[in-house]
Amino acid sequence: MNPPSDDLAAAAAAAAAERLRQVRLRIEQAARAAGRDASQVRLLAVSKTFGAHAVSAMAACGQSDFGENYVQEGVAKIDALRPSWPSLCWHFIGPLQSNKSREVARHFDWVHSVDRLSVAQRLSAQRPVECDGELLPPLQVCLQVNISGESSKSGVPASQAQQLAHEVARLPGLRLRGLMCIPAPVQGVAAQREPFARLRELQQHLVASGLALDTLSMGMSADLEAAVLEGATIVRVGSALFGARAQARR
Ligand SMILES: *Cc1c(COP(=O)(O)O)cnc(C)c1O
Repeated sequence: MNPPSDDLAAAAAAAAAERLRQVRLRIEQAARAAGRDASQVRLLAVSKTFGAHAVSAMAACGQSDFGENYVQEGVAKIDALRPSWPSLCWHFIGPLQSNKSREVARHFDWVHSVDRLSVAQRLSAQRPVECDGELLPPLQVCLQVNISGESSKSGVPASQAQQLAHEVARLPGLRLRGLMCIPAPVQGVAAQREPFARLRELQQHLVASGLALDTLSMGMSADLEAAVLEGATIVRVGSALFGARAQARR
């Protein structure tokens, strides 16, 4: 007979598998409605505030991309999980302070929240990182755009995105992949689609200006369908996969 803790672990693993199945189903249905192939949409599991065991359980279900908002928490999880899960892909999606950029450049594969040149320059300079005798590839980055135009939110204003994108695209330690946004929450798919459509149009404008961009990081638990309908290539999903977070930490 299994000890009770094994039963609990098995129940947790089954719950994780079911939530992952549900989220993948939502992505597939939205992709079908948009006439897109669901394989064009990468699911980023946002594991902030959840422990390494929760990430392990998702990884065991085949999930490979994980997103973190806080540098110290993310780095601790990456270090704890690397021995058993060496090929997970880690995305930094939170507000990025200059004094934390080195840790991000050393540990993460992607950064979605670049919103000013000074931080991009630091990340680029700090990225040449050796791992097992090999140089890591450039950091994959998205520019975070303040698409709803809220004064308190982070992100480059849409009007300044083109200039910043061309400056970031020239930095050798980074590879600019596209744009990211966190719109103000609204109800209803039609209203949710508006800011995502604006981000897609901005991306098309940047591509026309000569940048090779292929990534739109948009959509979370509450609005992933709207984002997929407007062309999201990465959706960042936390609570629908891991359950409700205890409280916002910031
Ligand atoms: C927390 C967070 C998410 C996930 O939010 P959920 O509503 O839990 O899906 C996505 N993106 C960013 C930037 C976040 O901070």
